[in-house]
Amino acid sequence: KDFRNQVKPNWCPGCGDFSVQAAIQRAAANVGLEPDDLAVVSGIGCSGRISGYINAYGFHGIHGRSLPIAQGVKMANRDLTVIASGGDGDGFAIGMGHTIHAMRRNIDVTYIVMDNQIYGLTKGQTSPTSAEGFKTKSTPSGSIESSLSIMELALSSGCGFLAQSFSTDLKDLVAIIEQGIEHKGFSLINVFSPCVTFNKVNTYDWFKQNLVSLSDIEGYDPTNRMMAMQTLMEHDGLVKGLIYHNPTRPSYQESVRGYSGEALSKQNLTLPEEKFQELMTEFM
Ligand code: SF4
Repeated sequence: KDFRNQVKPNWCPGCGDFSVQAAIQRAAANVGLEPDDLAVVSGIGCSGRISGYINAYGFHGIHGRSLPIAQGVKMANRDLTVIASGGDGDGFAIGMGHTIHAMRRNIDVTYIVMDNQIYGLTKGQTSPTSAEGFKTKSTPSGSIESSLSIMELALSSGCGFLAQSFSTDLKDLVAIIEQGIEHKGFSLINVFSPCVTFNKVNTYDWFKQNLVSLSDIEGYDPTNRMMAMQTLMEHDGLVKGLIYHNPTRPSYQESVRGYSGEALSKQNLTLPEEKFQELMTEFM
């Protein structure tokens, strides 16, 4: 169960994405997967390279489209564990429509976002999760847009598993990814993963000082959606841990009529000639 391959990541030394890669590899092994049980689908961005760095099926897709591909993979072969992955620009800007609809659709995909509040691959522009006033090459006088409250948005979009973590908290991150994989429905795990090269504001120290651990909030109950929303609003989204979990909602693939049998990719889908003619007659 070795999810490491021979490819050396070309992330900058110190990039938060290294820990996320290690956490996915450990979590996959801990839940008992073999490399050919797992598919990792990614979008475009520094973090999008991750699908090539894990010993599993990998699909490096196009910008903002990791989720449509990942959902297609899951629907075609539900026997696979499917992880979609990418950055905040990929998932919360160009891919935002897909993110919202994947959450309400509830296909069993674990979506891990490496959120560094900047576009790293294109050398440092403001992203949807950058704070108002954040100065980059694209906003030299400071961003005049408000930052996206992604966890609040996810809660209101029907996401049944919602968690946040910090890339240096490896033990917690591994545990959260394991839970996300085991959740039978869509799970969103937003990982604060500092870009050490272009984001000099949201650094490792900044996150250590500003993130509030949900385990330190007395009486916090991740099954209480109202409490989750209130806590997110009180802390401006800067919390880490399991934010919300609703294990009761059936996943999309369990609910689709006729999808109770063998995985589509393992079925013989050849249509017999007489059946084809029957259908042609019916639709002519
Ligand atoms: Fe990581 Fe930033 Fe370097 Fe990209 S530019 S690899 S996000 S540190």
